[in-house]
Amino acid sequence: MSAILDVRDLEVAFRTGGFLNRRDVLGVAGVSLEIHPGETFALVGESGSGKTTLARAVNHLQETSAGTVSFEGVRIDRLDRAAMKQVRRRMAMMFQDPIGSLSPRMTVGDLVTEPFRIHGEKVDYKAETERLLALVGLTADFAARFPHQLSGGQARRVGVARTIALNPALIIADEPTAGLDVSVQGEVLNLLNDLRERLGVAMLIITHNLHVVHHVADRMAVMYLGRFVESGPTEEIFRAPAHPYTAALLSANPEPDPDKAQDRIALPAEVPSLLARPSGCEFHTRCPWAQPRCQSDAPEIVDQGSRRVACHFPLAPGATPPAKERTA
Ligand code: SF4
Repeated sequence: MSAILDVRDLEVAFRTGGFLNRRDVLGVAGVSLEIHPGETFALVGESGSGKTTLARAVNHLQETSAGTVSFEGVRIDRLDRAAMKQVRRRMAMMFQDPIGSLSPRMTVGDLVTEPFRIHGEKVDYKAETERLLALVGLTADFAARFPHQLSGGQARRVGVARTIALNPALIIADEPTAGLDVSVQGEVLNLLNDLRERLGVAMLIITHNLHVVHHVADRMAVMYLGRFVESGPTEEIFRAPAHPYTAALLSANPEPDPDKAQDRIALPAEVPSLLARPSGCEFHTRCPWAQPRCQSDAPEIVDQGSRRVACHFPLAPGATPPAKERTA
């Protein structure tokens, strides 16, 4: 099956400094990924890893400096505004902040049908409101409410209804459970899984919450300083992370199952600045497994079975770091 989204060697450069010391800094540094119809792909990493910048670049909300983005077989990274508006019918973006992203003066009914008005589509608004609310598990009487009358979970459902209004082929969801209670997070994740099955929509999910990834993603990629350091099937990566950074992120999200409890891998808190990328492997300043070669020799991301890993010394399943790097 051909990919619905095909990103090749994508770069996003930011210009920094003044007239005399101007320079470009790479926020996304040569990333490639494919998403297939009906598939959910998650991007994970700490703040500043480049995952939101990458998602915005895919949706053309952020200018790219190199590489290509193709959607449904068409290259879209150089399209003009009008052409991109048509693409966004099929590639919908769901923003963070369930309540803040909804206009406070519009009713739920107007909010969920606004995409039809924006795209000049004549539809039966009442019928569409009821259909969309039902799809996200809300009753028709919600149509008359305003955002301030909704709980966080209800507001997120309204956001999802808006996102699916035009029957997109791909949803880009930025932190879909941010700001929600843990119990409500589970409901929203079940809703996303349910919609994927019923509508066949593909999803690109950006999150730092690994429980979200484990719950919804078929495949995932871990980003560090704007690059993928590991990507592949979610279950496989959760079972046996091959990159030390992935292992550290997973160890910071303990398994609920005590039989699977593992030591936490402590990383130095300081993430290097994009203005001063470390030499060699850019993770070597924080990596518990770093060896002399890592300081000078940058690892390429290469195929390793069904996944891709950027590390000279990928971890064996169950590897534990040197004792001084572990905390209980
Ligand atoms: Fe750690 Fe070296 Fe692998 Fe980088 S290449 S992740 S420093 S072991």
